[in-house]
Amino acid sequence: MGYKTYICPTSKNCGGCETLAVPYPIQLERKQQQVEELFADIVDSGSDVLQPIVGMDEPVRFRNKAATPFAPGPKGTIRSGFFAKGTHRIVRCRSCLVEDERCRRVLDSFAKTSELCKVAAYDEDKGRGLLRHAVVRAGWKTDELLLTIVANGERLPRERELVKRIVKHAPDITAIALNTNVRKTNAILGPTSRPLYNGGVMHDQLLGVTFEIGPTSFYQTNPSQTEVLYRLAIEGAQLQAGMRVLDAYCGIGTIGLCAASQVDGLTVTGVELGKGAVADARRNARINGLDGQCRFVCADATAFMKDTAKRGERYDAVIMDPPRAGSTPEFLASILALAPRRVVYVSCNAVTQRRDLDQLLAGGYRIERLTPVDMFPHTKHVETVALLAKKRK
Ligand code: SAH
Repeated sequence: MGYKTYICPTSKNCGGCETLAVPYPIQLERKQQQVEELFADIVDSGSDVLQPIVGMDEPVRFRNKAATPFAPGPKGTIRSGFFAKGTHRIVRCRSCLVEDERCRRVLDSFAKTSELCKVAAYDEDKGRGLLRHAVVRAGWKTDELLLTIVANGERLPRERELVKRIVKHAPDITAIALNTNVRKTNAILGPTSRPLYNGGVMHDQLLGVTFEIGPTSFYQTNPSQTEVLYRLAIEGAQLQAGMRVLDAYCGIGTIGLCAASQVDGLTVTGVELGKGAVADARRNARINGLDGQCRFVCADATAFMKDTAKRGERYDAVIMDPPRAGSTPEFLASILALAPRRVVYVSCNAVTQRRDLDQLLAGGYRIERLTPVDMFPHTKHVETVALLAKKRK
């Protein structure tokens, strides 16, 4: 059969794209089937509730983010690339099929500059040395590119001079931040960051809304498919001027801000547990002139929903995008108490979504549409958007 095959020189060692050997149309078919089976007893196979999965035209070079670990190599060299699957052995990365090419180029150049400037790489076993990781995020709709240097300390040697040389060797870089991680941990980023060049942030756009993204901001890694996902969620909520929307588990507010920019007089409340993400959401609201329409609350979504239900507040639509573990029975019970006309449930784990939907369906909602979106080609992950409407009494 004439399926196009994608070959990646690094995939054998890396293990990131675990289904790369499976032709892309078959990957999509499998994901579709998986969702179909999971929802078989609530979605009639003859109906048009389950929509065909939205895949990518060309599932390559979509990742807007790349990272490398560092370790000391022989004779003052620095090893960089990626950890070979299941190990902490660093393998050089000549190219990666799914990354934006600029990212890896910048990482390589930074490793070279650090080597020339004799900055010591971090030795995991001894807990000594400075450079632990580097992370690059590239704009999709902008040419901005943020390099985050993760160090086992708060300063780099001859910092100003070093920054000048890094930028000179990699002119694609538009900003640099230093993140400090002094813990013995596998987590890449530590809790604090400091700008080293040009504010230490980058900007990108989704559905015409500008987002400022820092070293620790949560930002989806496949921007073109993120637009597909957000469009489905926003259209599915059937928003009109003057409506009140709740964006629960909102991250840096991306879905709510995109919705508010499309509908005049919409008011959005975003709820998110992460303090940094809420600060990002508020700043992004201001940057886009949407702060009059959007407010962001830093709270546990369940506690917030219970309070909201108790106060008898009204929302016309709830958009929710919980983490893999899904939502909670109390959160869902509060939705039933608030009784918004529409609920849009965006999920990165169809199993927990299915569990949660059962509670909403039993409580008086019907499922109108269920659309799988392929955010992570060459992996087994699938994202789904479920649109629910309140049944008429
Ligand atoms: N809608 C956003 C983020 C989705 S990821 C986007 O598309 O970018 C899920 C988010 O839920 C994360 O930002 C996580 O910090 C947040 N979260 C996890 N548990 C939470 C809780 N109990 N209450 C509120 N937010 C929570």
